[in-house]
Amino acid sequence: MKYEAVIGLEVHAQILTDTKIFCGCSTKFGSEPNTQTCPVCIGMPGVLPVLNKKTLEFVIKTGFAMNCTISPYSRFARKNYFYPDLPKGYQISQYELPICEHGYTEIVVDGNVKKIGITRIHMEEDAGKNIHESASGGQGGNYSFVDLNRAGVPLMEIVSEPDIRSPKEAAEYMKKLRTILRYLGVCDGNMEQGSLRCDANVSVRPAGQKEFSTRAEVKNINSFKFVEKALEYEIKRQIKVIEEGGKVLQETRLWDSNKGITESMRGKEEAHDYRYFPEPDLVPIMVEQKWVDNIKSSLPELPDVKRERFVSEYGLSEYDADLLTDEKPLADWYEEATASYSLSLSGSKIISNWVKGELTRLLNEENKTIEECPLKPKQLAEMLTLMDKGTISGKIAKTVFEEMYKTGNDAEVIVKEKGLVQISDESAIEKAVDEVIAKNPKEVERFKAGDEKLIGFFVGQIMKLTKGKANPQIVNELLKKKLL
Ligand code: ADP
Ligand code: MG
Ligand code: ZN
Repeated sequence: MKYEAVIGLEVHAQILTDTKIFCGCSTKFGSEPNTQTCPVCIGMPGVLPVLNKKTLEFVIKTGFAMNCTISPYSRFARKNYFYPDLPKGYQISQYELPICEHGYTEIVVDGNVKKIGITRIHMEEDAGKNIHESASGGQGGNYSFVDLNRAGVPLMEIVSEPDIRSPKEAAEYMKKLRTILRYLGVCDGNMEQGSLRCDANVSVRPAGQKEFSTRAEVKNINSFKFVEKALEYEIKRQIKVIEEGGKVLQETRLWDSNKGITESMRGKEEAHDYRYFPEPDLVPIMVEQKWVDNIKSSLPELPDVKRERFVSEYGLSEYDADLLTDEKPLADWYEEATASYSLSLSGSKIISNWVKGELTRLLNEENKTIEECPLKPKQLAEMLTLMDKGTISGKIAKTVFEEMYKTGNDAEVIVKEKGLVQISDESAIEKAVDEVIAKNPKEVERFKAGDEKLIGFFVGQIMKLTKGKANPQIVNELLKKKLL
């Protein structure tokens, strides 16, 4: 590699409060345009903003989870610019005194742990939304509309240090942020709906060069897949510019996901001068140490710690532990099932296999999250106990599991109703074995002549005859006794 990429991400996360950051309007998504507005968030003159304390609490929570310092004294600032979706003519944000600074988070790429520095996390308000008639399918395309439901919705901006070195690391970092935000319950992490947005700053330097090169900022990246795609494209583009003897310009570029390219939006000359100044309508924020300490002690167990605990406590592989702890509700489901079932390490592995396998498959089929799972963890544990007792076979268990998932009934009820109890009565199985042997004389001959693979054929036929209920161990024993 002759070149090295340098990447820093600015991520905007919508904060999951019920009401807006400086007024009492609802933040609910998808309502009729302009029904969630008031004089404060539509920018009437003379009104005064009041900070939503929950916003502050959620950002401090995030700050702790990202190992930041929480500033005892911080302040809001006005960022001035003109746009129709911004009726005040300025956005209330934070500038030189953000609430959280100097943190880091760890990502794992190709098995290696890497620290990504967090420069700052600050609070700000979202703008409204412009809707253009043609884009929304309306007639003529002559009009544009402004919906201010989103104006004043609380956001946090998480700015990383330029520590990221590849598109893959950038995607891992985004995923890590999303997992942490969802664990904390401070953001739903939905990139497609815009509750998590990412601007990527990228530059490219010759391998070995110490100084950073000039960067471009890529905007409009709205999915995890595109984080990688947009960066890959932009890095290649910059390398080409350098190799052709040109200079990478400091500019803002837009990612076009249809074309798969980034395009120049504005250069340095057209960059906004935001004329930041301290927000005079809001008092500075001084947080009480006791309150901050309480927030810290209310943090849930975070994904990294949980993953390592799953490895040591349940004997899972790093890979499985990672899968199971990606979403907190899934980790909780797993732990509840384990608690009601296994006393041994092998039990926790068996549960892990069912969760990763059958349960995930059924949930995916219906596009359901674990929170919508109709099956209770205890029900899986009870089914596994029936298997241990020999009441049902491993094969039947899959049927029972699916039936439990579909009906919500317990395993015992399903087994009784459907007559799925495993046949362990030797004489009953012997009847089936004899019948299959009698029906297939040619196969018997071939088997006796040494074609041992045919044992599978016989087992299959017997299972078919007994509707999968014959105890496979007894089937095998009887077959061997009769055929050899
Ligand atoms: P601005 O205020 O213009 O957005 P910042 O200094 O706050 O600029 O940096 C924004 C982002 O750009 C940060 O995430 C930072 O890590 C990243 N960054 C800064 N310099 C470079 C560079 N030379 N190459 C890539 N990313 C950079
Ligand atoms: Mg920026
Ligand atoms: Zn309002």
